[in-house]
Amino acid sequence: MLDLDFGCTRCGRCCTGLRLPLTLGEALGWLGDGHEVELLCEALPWPAEPARDDEPAAHRRRRSFAAHSGRLPLRVIVVLAAAFSGRCPNLGADDRCAVYARRPLVCRIYPAEIHPFLTLVPAHKGCPPQAWDPGQPALLRAGRIVEAETHAAIEASREADRREAGLKQRLCAELGVDCAAIGGEGFVAHRPPRPALRTALQAALQSAAPTAARTATQAALQPAGEADTAAAGASDWRLVSRSRRTLDELGAAGARIGPADALANGAYLDLGAVDAEPGGDPERSGGVAADLRAAAAAPAPPR
Ligand code: SF4
Ligand code: SF4
Repeated sequence: MLDLDFGCTRCGRCCTGLRLPLTLGEALGWLGDGHEVELLCEALPWPAEPARDDEPAAHRRRRSFAAHSGRLPLRVIVVLAAAFSGRCPNLGADDRCAVYARRPLVCRIYPAEIHPFLTLVPAHKGCPPQAWDPGQPALLRAGRIVEAETHAAIEASREADRREAGLKQRLCAELGVDCAAIGGEGFVAHRPPRPALRTALQAALQSAAPTAARTATQAALQPAGEADTAAAGASDWRLVSRSRRTLDELGAAGARIGPADALANGAYLDLGAVDAEPGGDPERSGGVAADLRAAAAAPAPPR
């Protein structure tokens, strides 16, 4: 099992050129600070429920909501992301984080992995080699996070991902967001007007209270984080791809399809574009890119 030591050199490389996953509350705060937030949308064709012991599929199910595209059943994963192409707007001239005490969970976790099925590989991170020198503080022992604060941040991030999946369905319905890329190929980045997004985020967060108060019976009938599709509004998604073959096969399965490069209300970003972001780390920018890669192993588009 993996043992790793790690000491942050404060090089600031992990604060540049990112799409930084945020919780709903963090996204509201990011908007309040005057910065931009996107909704990154990917869809997983879900023609049947996976086997009970398929843990990766169960993970994807927990962090997604049920939808459809025409006749094709889907799970849709939406990630709220702080988007910036250069330095993070919170990165000071001294390369220190100006909001360190209230920085997003993902910033507290890096370079550890949020994704439960990914192994931390130092070469995949943006940190300089000396950050991993033996004798630095212990990060992993036998593959487990040593530091209590990082461990707690990972658990909080995963819990928010599960708890907020259904709220994101409401958010998309409110904002008219209904276009996604295919998991494993890319995602569609929507950037709604900031006032509309702020209002929709506030409404989604307020709607969480009754969800938490569900009865045990309701909880048994409807898994946590799963929104009531009818209450959340229409959920017929349009799927886009740069692959003619994917579009043909999705079309044959009865999906609503379209080309990826002519989007009226979003931008198509493929995984290669994410990985190539200057200074960006695919696993971080990511968490998204990592999950899209994992999604490639999900019930795939009919091929
Ligand atoms: S919020 Fe702070 S830690 Fe996070 S990317 Fe920005 S500057 Fe870096
Ligand atoms: S890239 Fe690594 S070493 Fe550099 S600031 Fe980020 S966490 Fe620290």
